[in-house]
Amino acid sequence: MAENIANVAGVDVSTDHWIDGRRVPSPRRFADVSPVDGSHLADVAAGGKAEVGQAVAAARKAFPGWAALGPKGRLPILKRFADGLKARAAELAAVETMDNGSLLLGNVHRVIPRAAQNIEFFADWALTLDGHSIDSPEVVNHVKYDPAGVAALITPWNAPLMLTTWKVGPALAAGNTVVVKPPEWAPLTCSLMADIAHAAGVPAGVLNVVQGIGEEAGNALVNHPDVDRISFTGSTDTAKIIGQAAARSITPMSAELGGKSPFIVCADADLDAAAQTVAAQYMNAGQVCLAGTRVMVEKSIEDGFLAKVRDAASHMVVGDPRDKDTRVGPLITKEHFDRVAGFVERAKADGAVPLWGGSRANFGDLYFEPTLFANVSPSLEIAQREVFGPVLTWQSFTSDDEAIELANNTRYGLAATLFSGNETRATKMASQVVAGTVWVNCFFVRDLAAPFGGSRDSGIGREGGAWSFDFYADIKNISVRKGSFA
Ligand code: NAD
Repeated sequence: MAENIANVAGVDVSTDHWIDGRRVPSPRRFADVSPVDGSHLADVAAGGKAEVGQAVAAARKAFPGWAALGPKGRLPILKRFADGLKARAAELAAVETMDNGSLLLGNVHRVIPRAAQNIEFFADWALTLDGHSIDSPEVVNHVKYDPAGVAALITPWNAPLMLTTWKVGPALAAGNTVVVKPPEWAPLTCSLMADIAHAAGVPAGVLNVVQGIGEEAGNALVNHPDVDRISFTGSTDTAKIIGQAAARSITPMSAELGGKSPFIVCADADLDAAAQTVAAQYMNAGQVCLAGTRVMVEKSIEDGFLAKVRDAASHMVVGDPRDKDTRVGPLITKEHFDRVAGFVERAKADGAVPLWGGSRANFGDLYFEPTLFANVSPSLEIAQREVFGPVLTWQSFTSDDEAIELANNTRYGLAATLFSGNETRATKMASQVVAGTVWVNCFFVRDLAAPFGGSRDSGIGREGGAWSFDFYADIKNISVRKGSFA
C-alpha cells in the first residue's frame, strides 16, 4: 500500500502512523489546516483502538532489547537521533510554523534546536543514573534505575516537537519504549521525528507514533492495559479525564498543564527590561503555557510603567509568522479564536476595560490584537481562567503581601515572573509565590537539568534532569549484607 505523503512548506511529510518500524495507514483521516493562511495541509490518519493496540504491542515486543542495550548502548543511537533533528532543523521549523502558526524565527533559533538538545541531554544524563549507593551499618544499598516499560506520551499543539522530545528523550534514554500521540491540530513534525529516529537507527517498535483525535486515539492509549507510564502535557480538563484512566490501572502519570501566571513588577525594578518582558508575553499570540498573563504592578510606578509597556507592546507586530518582523501570529483554530474572543467579551461585560486591543486584528481570520485589560478585580473570570491568547490583565499592589495574595489567587501554579532590584525582597517574594518555576529579572530561561512542572491545577510531578528519570524508571534498591560474599 502506498504511503500517504503531504508536501508542506516544500517538505514531504508522511501522514500515516509509524508503528513497529513502518508506516501504517488508517482508512479514516482528519483534516490538518494551517492557522497561518487557512490552507489545507494534509489528511492525517485517524487512529483508534486498533492502531493503539498494534503500537503498544510493538513497543512491548521491542522493550527487552532496547532495555538490554543499557545507557551506553543507547547513547550513540540517541546522539544520531539528535544529529538528525539538527540536520533537518530548517525543514522542521518550516513545517511546524505552517502547522501551528508559531514564529518561524523562534522555531529556527530556539524551539527546534531545543528538541535536539532534549534527546542528547537525557542520553548523556542516563550514563550517570546507576552507581549511587547508600552505606548503612549492616548493608550497602545500591540504587538502580530500571526502565519502566512502555510509556504513553501525549502532547499539545503549541510546541509539539519540543514538548514531545522533552518526553521521548528521557523515556528512551532510560530504556523505555514509547507510543507518541501527537496533537491533532499540529501533528506533522512528530511524523518527521519518526523518520529521523528511524534513520538514526532507533530499532523498530522502540518509538511509535499513532496519529489521531484525543478523545479517540489518546483515550485508547491511556486506557490500554499494557502501558506502564502516562506522560501528558496539555489542558487541566483533559488531565482530569486521563487521570481517571491512570487511577483505574494505578499507572504513574505525569501532567504538565495550563497556567495563569503572575508577572510582578516592583517599583525598584529595571522598568525598561520589565516592560519589554511584559510585551514578550504576547509572543506566539499568547499560546504559551508559561506566559505571565496577570501583570501586577506596584502602585507608585503604575502610570509611568504603563506608558513603557504600551510602547513596548506597540512593537508586537501582528502578522504572518513566517515574516521576520512578526511577533504575534495566528490563534490555532477558529474554535480557539472563538474561545479567546468569548473570554474577551465576557471580561468587557464584567466591567474590565481594555486599555488596548480587545478585537480581531486587521490581518486574517485567526489573528487577535494584543490586549490588556484594566479594572480587573481578582475574582473575574479573566483573572482566573487560562485564555491561551494574547490577553493580559493589569492589577496594582501597595505592599508585597498584597502582591503575593493576588499572585496566589488562582487554582494554577505553573510559573511566576518577578522584577525587582532588591535581592532580599525578590528572594522573599519568590519563596512565597505558588509556582513550579519563578523567574527573577528574566523570563523563559530553561536549564534542562532544572526541575520543571506545575503546582495545584498546573500539574503533577516534575520533569527535567533527575526528575524525568525518577518518573521514567522503576527505581530499585539492591541491599547487600556487608561481608556476605567471599
Ligand atoms: P488538550 O488537553 O486539549 O490536548 C492535549 C493532547 O491531549 C492532545 O494531543 C489531544 O489530542 C490529547 N487528548 C485530548 N483529549 C484526550 C483524552 N480524552 N485522552 C487522551 N488524550 C487526549 O490541550 P491543547 O489545547 O492541545 O493544549 C493547550 C493546553 O496545554 C493549555 O492549557 C496549555 O497551558 C497546556 N500546555 C502546558 C504546557 C506545560 O508544560 N505545562 C506546555 C504547553 C501547553
